[in-house]
Amino acid sequence: MDTRKIMIEGAMNMETELLLEALTDPQEQFVGQWRFVEGKYQEVNLVVAVTSIGMTNAAAATALGIEKFRPTAVISQGTAGGHDPELKAYDIVLGRRSFDASSYRSAQEDFVDWRHMELMGSYAYDEGTQSFVPQAVYYPGDEKLLAAAQVVAKDYKRGRVVAGCIASCNTWNRQKARLQFSHNQFGSSCEDMEVNSAAQICQQYGIPFLGIRILSNTEFQAEEFQPESAKVCQQFVLAVAQQYDKALTGN
Ligand code: SAH
Repeated sequence: MDTRKIMIEGAMNMETELLLEALTDPQEQFVGQWRFVEGKYQEVNLVVAVTSIGMTNAAAATALGIEKFRPTAVISQGTAGGHDPELKAYDIVLGRRSFDASSYRSAQEDFVDWRHMELMGSYAYDEGTQSFVPQAVYYPGDEKLLAAAQVVAKDYKRGRVVAGCIASCNTWNRQKARLQFSHNQFGSSCEDMEVNSAAQICQQYGIPFLGIRILSNTEFQAEEFQPESAKVCQQFVLAVAQQYDKALTGN
């Protein structure tokens, strides 16, 4: 039986509308306040989750979507701001890993820069001890999803595609020095508000997960938010879903 199903998440309507239009035989359902639409893209079973913005919404929608639709893989996709000064709008970051940028401990003394910050990671459910315990700071992206995305990347014409690190928290940061610090100290390529929450929930459920983010803006190139980039990301992600499914079935 065909039990494979990929849940693709996006926060805003502009980050999900192209996905929703691409579905054949769409079936809409609300779980709590979150909208999910099941359907097929070509031969691939998809469920599109419209999570709304932010870490809490992303976590809730991911958990509810997993319980209700039992996806076999999850992708959190959408727009992001640049941390790596080399990256420009329309460049895509594949989340080889992600972290919660709001989870840090500081040193006691006053500071003039951000070198006092030590990342703490999150409390996540651990199957072994059956309790919530501090986890590693960085959540890895799934290797097979990453490999599928790297195949699709070869045909991407709008910019570069890099396997990098996504810093998530409910922040829109425009301080160049701080963005640069995060890149240098923690290795972040870009910032968003959803990926790491979804990554944590997927890790707890043991479901393959990948964050895929397109730069919609970056302070380093003085670029303002470019809504069109959200569409381009969805197109890329549909191709990744297809490639991942193809690789799993060997067709
Ligand atoms: N209502 C807000 C829009 C927020 S957009 C406003 O008008 O300012 C935020 C969404 O875009 C989040 O879902 C996040 O994942 C993504 N995003 C894009 N650029 C970002 C940035 N520089 N920092 C944080 N999140 C960003």
